[in-house]
Parts: sequence; structure tokens; C-alpha cells
Amino acid sequence: MAQVVFNFQGETNHYELILAYKDCKHNHAVPFGFVLLDGCPEFISGGRRHEDDEIGDALICATCNCHRNFHRREVTFVPIRQPREPDNNVIYVTLDPSLRPHEQQH
Ligand SMILES: [Zn+2]
Repeated sequence: MAQVVFNFQGETNHYELILAYKDCKHNHAVPFGFVLLDGCPEFISGGRRHEDDEIGDALICATCNCHRNFHRREVTFVPIRQPREPDNNVIYVTLDPSLRPHEQQH
């Protein structure tokens, strides 16, 4: 998982970015003009793109065989005190000073 570093005027805050893929939103009845969801509650990788595939695909859901993109993405930022090592998967964000909430000013 990626880390996110928010930089505001030299002050940095580190967050762990947690991505979760929840319920499947794939409408299986588009050609018929109504909504039919498969009811899959959460993406689990390792499904098969085609019925005769021998190995699973990391981007295909093992439960409903839909691509991961059909699953609702949930993003959570968890504050961390120290950057985790190795530090190779980091997103750096420099915040515009005008975006700072007033209540955080001293
Ligand atoms: Zn599905």
C-alpha cells in the first residue's frame, strides 16, 4: 500500500493509504435495460477472465469473476507518525495554503 505525505509550508503529515474494493456494481443486465447486480460483497483477487483459464488473475474477482474496476473503491487515510521503510511507494502532495482549515491555525 502507498503512503501519502501531505506537505503544508514545510510541515509534513504522513498517512497510510488503504484501498479497499467493496461491493460489485457490475450491472449484468445492461442489454436488457434493467439493473441486475451479482451481489458480491467484496473483491477477492484471483478470479478467471475466461472459464478455461487455468490460473486466476489478480484483477478479477474470485467470487463474481468481474474486473476489479466494477467494485466500489473505498479510500481510507490512516495517520502514521513515522514514514514506513522502504520508502519507495510514496505520493507527495503539497497543499495550497488557502486550503488550510482555520481551526488548525495557532
Ligand atoms: Zn461482480
